[in-house]
Amino acid sequence: MKTLRLLLGDQLNLQHSWFKQKEENVLYAMFEMRQETDYAKHHIQKIVGFFVAMREMADTLEKNGHKVIYYKINDTSNKQDLGLNLTQLMLEFDITHFEYQAPDEYRLSSQLEKICKSLEITHEVFTTEHFLVSQDFLEKMFQGKKQVILESFYRTVRKQYGFLMEGSEPEGGKWNFDHDNRKKWNGKPEVPQNFPVHNEVSAVYEEIKTSACAFIGEINTKDFLWPINRSQSLTVLEFFCKVALPHFGSFQDAMDQKEPWLFHSRLSFALNTKMLHPKEVVEAAVKAYKKNPQAISLAQVEGFVRQIVGWREYMRGIYWWKMPEFAKLNYFGHERTLPKWFWTGETKMNCLSKSIKQSLEHAYAHHIQRLMVTGNFALLAGIHPDALDEWYLGIYIDAIEWVEITNTRGMSQFADGGIVGTKPYVSSANYIQKMGNYCSNCFYEYGKKTGEKACPFNSLYWRFYEINRPLLEKNPRIGMMYVTLNKMSDTNKKELFEQAEKYLSGIESL
Ligand SMILES: Cc1cc2nc3c(=O)[nH]c(=O)nc-3n(C[C@H](O)[C@H](O)[C@H](O)COP(=O)(O)OP(=O)(O)OC[C@H]3O[C@@H](n4cnc5c(N)ncnc54)[C@H](O)[C@@H]3O)c2cc1C
Ligand code: SF4
Repeated sequence: MKTLRLLLGDQLNLQHSWFKQKEENVLYAMFEMRQETDYAKHHIQKIVGFFVAMREMADTLEKNGHKVIYYKINDTSNKQDLGLNLTQLMLEFDITHFEYQAPDEYRLSSQLEKICKSLEITHEVFTTEHFLVSQDFLEKMFQGKKQVILESFYRTVRKQYGFLMEGSEPEGGKWNFDHDNRKKWNGKPEVPQNFPVHNEVSAVYEEIKTSACAFIGEINTKDFLWPINRSQSLTVLEFFCKVALPHFGSFQDAMDQKEPWLFHSRLSFALNTKMLHPKEVVEAAVKAYKKNPQAISLAQVEGFVRQIVGWREYMRGIYWWKMPEFAKLNYFGHERTLPKWFWTGETKMNCLSKSIKQSLEHAYAHHIQRLMVTGNFALLAGIHPDALDEWYLGIYIDAIEWVEITNTRGMSQFADGGIVGTKPYVSSANYIQKMGNYCSNCFYEYGKKTGEKACPFNSLYWRFYEINRPLLEKNPRIGMMYVTLNKMSDTNKKELFEQAEKYLSGIESL
């Protein structure tokens, strides 16, 4: 039997049991394809990052004695389509059996199922062996439920793995240290310097340019800062645990206009491409904390563990529970197009300008910038969730649909009507001012609700609650906002809503 095994671009798990032994009759296939570069307009660092990491993986497999067929983007034999490439290889190498690892994206999962239906040879699907929780576990947790709350999911997985547990109780007697973890960063402590990964990626960049596929964003091809193989990914993990984890929790919600990374791990690309396993990431963080609890408090490490064990695995559960319907949800019926400045950062609103320009420069923004700046504005302005998904999917190096769409359409836009979160994440300028330093350099005044230079977030915020009253007023977590709104005088409300409408009608020039 001659077997063809497919490896997708986000299946770069060198620890997978497939690679435990060399098998004479197994051929691995990896393809750089236009079908993958063109389904959204991606950031150039995302395309380069994926291709370079795939090539590194293919090289390592070959060095370890495996047989690999690798199609580069401009290879003449590359049909640029998964089905066509597979069929071509099956004929060329007299393949009698096909195997693949279950994709994390619905799009690719459906495509592969369809391909397999048309095959005359046998096939088998394997797990990627990547996630902490299995598909069976997800089914037990999610199927038949009305809602699954992150907190109960997180606690179940933490107990199952014994992460930060003392018997059946959480270490420190509390599951959640969020309360200690919401600090503004005022320049101290110093943010980590000397990031340990620097790559030269000019050759791949030139090939992508030759292929003429469309892309957005900037790249420094002489100093590409994302890890491109397992060894570099482990280096980033070690760097994080040593220098950023001691302050991760405290400043995870902080924003700074000059410091894009603050104390964040920058591990999402290595995790989402599966170069790192979430278990080893959590274990490394817990080990660092146990070794030096004076430097790394429990609140810091719990904040980090919660992101990986809780949010990341939970979002995957939501995705497979609710797809494909999830991709069409639009609870508020939002229809507005995305302002053109989302693609350039050219807006007078400093928080948006800085967050967008940073995203174009680094293919990165941290969670609060994604949620409370770009996402917050889009929700208040009533942007169509399709346009938002396309933007988030394209611009971030870590954006793969299963984790992008659940965060964007679910957590950030509440387009799911409350599947992921219990209330919409919206705020006025107050939150952005409290958690960052954008407002001090802004054309607009964060303290002003109406009149010249009033911050758009303020009037849009109250307009959002007013127009969505029928959908939100009964939500117990929001009730207080309506108490405040109801207490406002009619004149105040009129001025506020007129201000909001004026800003929305001139949204392109905000
Ligand atoms: C609108 C929106 C879109 C997002 N799109 C993506 C996306 O496409 N891909 C993606 O990986 N993350 C996404 N996130 C989650 C989060 O913003 C990123 O995981 C994080 O910013 C990556 O940077 P980091 O590795 O430095 O993370 P850190 O802040 O250091 O966090 C550590 C790790 O925890 C995980 N994590 C943290 N928050 C989340 C979350 N909400 N959901 C899932 N995992 C989480 C990530 O794997 C991350 O690497 C999105 C969030 C929002 C609000
Ligand atoms: S004033 Fe408003 S628009 Fe300007 S930075 Fe602050 S929150 Fe953003």
